[in-house]
Amino acid sequence: MTDSGADGPDGGSTDASRDVVVVGGGVAGLTAAVFTARQGLDTLVVDPGESILRRNAHLENFPGFPLGINPRQLLDRLDEQAAGAGADRFDGRVTRVATVGAVDDAAADDPAANARPDAAADGARFVVETDGADPVRTRYVVAATKNEVGYLEGIDGVGIVDRGKAYVDVDERGRTGVDGLYAAGRLAEKPHQAAVCAGHGAEVAVTLLEDDDAPFYHDWVAPEGYFTDRGRDVPPGCEEIDADERRAREAAALDAARERSAEPHPDPQETHPSLED
Ligand SMILES: Cc1cc2nc3c(=O)[nH]c(=O)nc-3n(C[C@H](O)[C@H](O)[C@H](O)COP(=O)(O)OP(=O)(O)OC[C@H]3O[C@@H](n4cnc5c(N)ncnc54)[C@H](O)[C@@H]3O)c2cc1C
Repeated sequence: MTDSGADGPDGGSTDASRDVVVVGGGVAGLTAAVFTARQGLDTLVVDPGESILRRNAHLENFPGFPLGINPRQLLDRLDEQAAGAGADRFDGRVTRVATVGAVDDAAADDPAANARPDAAADGARFVVETDGADPVRTRYVVAATKNEVGYLEGIDGVGIVDRGKAYVDVDERGRTGVDGLYAAGRLAEKPHQAAVCAGHGAEVAVTLLEDDDAPFYHDWVAPEGYFTDRGRDVPPGCEEIDADERRAREAAALDAARERSAEPHPDPQETHPSLED
């Protein structure tokens, strides 16, 4: 549901209208984007590249890496996975999220407001403002910014929890008090662990997809005939692939793993800002 585009300043681009804007491309946000983009929702991730995981020295408890992985490489891989699923990325910071009604009311006397697409036409609930590109209208927002909540201040109904650091109050599936607005990962008071936050990003995305129009949604790749040979339709989000396709995907994955693992990650170790020169 992309309308006209506007280039961002540092690579990546935003588009005037999206299905999902993920605010924060750390482990939770990027994982959420993988799931929403794989289901075909037009997904934009906005992130300035400041995941707290970049400070980890060697990540040894993320599932699937028995000897650990460079955390910056893990973030690169998640980035690549989200892009491969079809998500776009804008390298910037979200400065404000407002409900469409609030923005339109404020701009009622502004002639430019008449040029904006109608909320009913594009289904947008939110307008997302960034520090370097035109505002983006979107049906859903997934907030995944660890402890940054300033951009949510203008929205009535979002519960901000102040425990020294700020968090967003959510239900057991990541929904906030505002329809279409979700919070994922550490921001949703999940334990300060990468695997937990990634898993929560996935859960929140599946919740969003179920709330959208696919109840009992599963993102599964199954062998040919798994459902259909039992007389069942392939369920929403699922795919059956034959043996040739399975071998082709495995070969591509092995090639990619060899290439990605050939050299140490080039980015330097990061540490706490108070320890920097
Ligand atoms: C030194 C250190 C070592 C660690 N080691 C481990 C470990 O070994 N194992 C483990 O499981 N966990 C470890 N962690 C914890 C782990 O890094 C976090 O729990 C995890 O990264 C939280 O994921 P998240 O997606 O919620 O937040 P983050 O990964 O921090 O992602 C938040 C994202 O939001 C973005 N953002 C913020 N504000 C905005 C905005 N206004 N607009 C757009 N984007 C914004 C940031 O750029 C960032 O990318 C470690 C943490 C530290 C500090």
